[in-house]
Amino acid sequence: MADISLVAGTATDVGRVRTVNQDALLATASVFVVADGMGGHHGGEVASRFVVEEFSRLDPTGFDADDGARAVREVLCAIQVRIEEYGAREGAGDHPWYSGTTAVAGILVHHQSRPTWLVANVGDSRAYRFAHHRLEQISVDHSLVQELLTAGKISAKEAESHPERHVVTRALGGPQVPEADLFRWSVTPGERLLLCSDGITGLIDDAAIARVLAEVPEAQPAAERLVAAALAAGGLDNATAVVVDAVGSHGG
Ligand code: MN
Repeated sequence: MADISLVAGTATDVGRVRTVNQDALLATASVFVVADGMGGHHGGEVASRFVVEEFSRLDPTGFDADDGARAVREVLCAIQVRIEEYGAREGAGDHPWYSGTTAVAGILVHHQSRPTWLVANVGDSRAYRFAHHRLEQISVDHSLVQELLTAGKISAKEAESHPERHVVTRALGGPQVPEADLFRWSVTPGERLLLCSDGITGLIDDAAIARVLAEVPEAQPAAERLVAAALAAGGLDNATAVVVDAVGSHGG
């Protein structure tokens, strides 16, 4: 039976301006995540770490896409509970504690016995598919700027420099458990999945991302090159990239 195997590369950097890296990432055999935390008093890095810890418990072996979607909802609930509990402990007294985090996850499931990517997104970290030298943004940002863009109130050019481009409209750690947008497609051998934080996409454009993914055939150096490009472009934010290559294989 034709199947695929996955080869992942990961890279993250604090950047040139921030003092703490509040991004977090995960790459297991079949679960890949990028989370971008926000908040003071260590809120951001705690929240993004909870995302990684809870997704690392997920074993999607034997899952179809519907099982995967159910599991994602459970994981998001578990993350939200941990953020709330931590906040209740830390927030006592004179130090208000708040935190939030994005989460974008790619989970390999088998839908109708075909290897299938299930991508779940909350916030403005992104998932892209790169296949046949074409880069396609899969996730839709939960951000103020995306809402203005969708409503036709600003242009794509204006979005790039909008003063409120970091405002996220859906995140973990808010007043309720956010619903994730879900995307799924059959995995084709040779395609790449990219998960990244806005420390990449806010600093280099899609054409530059596509160039790196086209030029660097191996996943690990490709992830490193994306982060290096964001640093070279100013490194104004924590930058994180997870590149997952789907390699064709034939097993029994
Ligand atoms: Mn960020």
